[in-house]
Amino acid sequence: MPPIDRLPPLREVIAIHGLAAKKSLGQNFLLDLNLTARIARIPGDLTQADVLEVGPGPGGLTRGLLAEGARRVLAIEKDTRCLPALAEIAEAYPGRLEVIEGDALEVDARAHLNGPIHVVANLPYNVGTELLIRWLTPADWPPYWQSLTLMFQREVAERIVAQPGTKAYGRLAVLAQWKAEARIALTLPPEAFTPPPKISSAVVHLRPRPEPAFPADPAAMERVVAKAFNQRRKMLRAALKGLHPQIEAKLEEAGIAPTARAETLSIEQFAALARTLG
Ligand code: SAM
Repeated sequence: MPPIDRLPPLREVIAIHGLAAKKSLGQNFLLDLNLTARIARIPGDLTQADVLEVGPGPGGLTRGLLAEGARRVLAIEKDTRCLPALAEIAEAYPGRLEVIEGDALEVDARAHLNGPIHVVANLPYNVGTELLIRWLTPADWPPYWQSLTLMFQREVAERIVAQPGTKAYGRLAVLAQWKAEARIALTLPPEAFTPPPKISSAVVHLRPRPEPAFPADPAAMERVVAKAFNQRRKMLRAALKGLHPQIEAKLEEAGIAPTARAETLSIEQFAALARTLG
C-alpha cells in the first residue's frame, strides 16, 4: 500500500523523539498507518467536521484522521515528550491540527471545537471509561458530538455493547445503550500495538440517539442502575432496598419481579423503574 503521507514512518518518529512508551500513561502505540487510516474511516466523512482526539501520542491516528480528510483535528496530549512530533504533523497539514498539552479530564475541549464534532481516540486505559461516562452524561441531550469512535481494552468494549442476561451486562451497557447506538467496529490483537498489551483491544462506535431510548430522569436512572449493579448477585428487592421504603411494591408497579436480578433487566425496564421511583 502507498504511504498515507510524506512524514517519516512512526518507528523513526519514536526513535528521533525518544518516545519510549510509558506504562503509567497507558501508552500502547499504533504504528501501522494503514490501520490508523482504517480507524479514521469508521465515523464516515469527516471533511466538514472537527475531530477531538484524546492522547495522540506520536500521532499515528492523528495522521490517519488528517490523511482521510478531517477538516480539523484538536488533539489533547498529556505527555510533553510527544509535542515536537505532533508539531511536525501540524506543519505538514497547515491550519488543520491544534494540539493542547494537558489532561483530557481537565481541558474544556468543547471551547476549541466547531460543529459538527466527532470524537476519535485510542484511549489511555486508565481514563477511558471515565471519559466515556462524561461524554454520555452531558447537561443536555443530544450531546455536542455526532459520534464517538473509541479504542478500549476488549473486555471494556464488550461491557459497552453487552446485552441483558450476560456477564458483561452492567451499568456501562445500560448507560451507553440508553443514550446511544453502540457497536464494536473493529477488534485488534495485542500485536497491533507497540508495546503489545496483555489483552486484545476493540474499537467501539457510538452514535447518540436523538433522545434516550426510553423516557426517564437521567439522575434517577443513574441512581437505580448504579445501585442495582452494585450488588448484582442479589435480588432487586434486596439490592435496591435503600431507594424506597416499599421497594417491592414499587418494583411490581414497574412490572418487575422483586426476585429478579439486575443483569436480567432490559433498559426499558430500568427506565420504567426510574420513572416509578422518581
Ligand atoms: N493515539 C496514539 C496511538 O494510537 O498510537 C497513542 C495512544 S496511547 C493508548 C494513549 C495516549 O494518551 C498516550 O499518548 C498518553 O500519553 C496519552 N494520555 C494518557 N493520559 C492522558 C490524559 N489524561 N489526557 C490526555 N492524554 C493522555
